[in-house]
Amino acid sequence: MDSIPVNLQDLKPEGFKEFLDSFDHVFSDCDGVIWTKGPLAGVGKFFSLMKKHGKTVNFVSNNSLRSKENYEDRFREAEIENGFDYLTIPSIAIAEYLKSVNFNKKVYSMSCTETNNVLKSYGIEFKEGPDVGADYYEDYLQYMKDDPEIGAVVMDCDFKVNLPKINKATTYLGRPDVHFLCGATDRHVYYAPGAKTLAPGVFTELVAEEANRRPVVLGKPGKAFGEFAMKRAGVTNPSRVLFIGDMIEQDVGLGRATGFKTLLVLTNTTKETMLAHKTIRPDFYAESLCSIVPLLEK
Ligand SMILES: [Mg+2]
Repeated sequence: MDSIPVNLQDLKPEGFKEFLDSFDHVFSDCDGVIWTKGPLAGVGKFFSLMKKHGKTVNFVSNNSLRSKENYEDRFREAEIENGFDYLTIPSIAIAEYLKSVNFNKKVYSMSCTETNNVLKSYGIEFKEGPDVGADYYEDYLQYMKDDPEIGAVVMDCDFKVNLPKINKATTYLGRPDVHFLCGATDRHVYYAPGAKTLAPGVFTELVAEEANRRPVVLGKPGKAFGEFAMKRAGVTNPSRVLFIGDMIEQDVGLGRATGFKTLLVLTNTTKETMLAHKTIRPDFYAESLCSIVPLLEK
């Protein structure tokens, strides 16, 4: 079990200075930390003060659903300059990964439109679908035919996930040289207290189990994703990174996997839930980014 997380608010000035001196780079999650429906209070101030203290600021999100324009608008509303230029998301990590292995076949994509757009922008060809399956099991053999053109299976947010697609992905992954990449591994997305839906992680796990393969996780909390974010930011020492997030599994989990220091903001989690977590605890916690602003101004 990790040690007891430190409440930044409880630190004396010298303790807070020690905290500030313990990292050079801030990597921050977006949804639930910087904005919910709209920007959260004080976030622009928080990041500009961090920069004033000599820290580099980067952003890491599991959300590949937003377009570049939507991200740019959100960063602007949050008063964060050029935020998108410093953002790492799974779709970009997946495209960069394929580029790095000189990928020259086609992707079978079980993803959202925006992820497919990113693949396209990298010149990576992909196949997808079908969105509707056959009515009888005997007609499913057509989805179990291998396609030699496919050299990678990519799984992220696919709102039209279905049996034909799962059969296709599993079939292609039967060839050991077919890359298996995924973005977000979240098993659920929460709409409101008590209202949740299944999320991509459930379907990725299903395909992984059926194909007896493990995906390269290019989303939080995958170590490969954390290392990719570091590479993009030109950071070599993970222990000099402070990762800020609102989710224990994804954000603190990524920090643990990659070797970052972690700060949990309690915008979506209570202190009790944080302390009750069986395996992962953050190094630090705070109510919100806004609550840290007065400490940075001292
Ligand atoms: Mg979040």
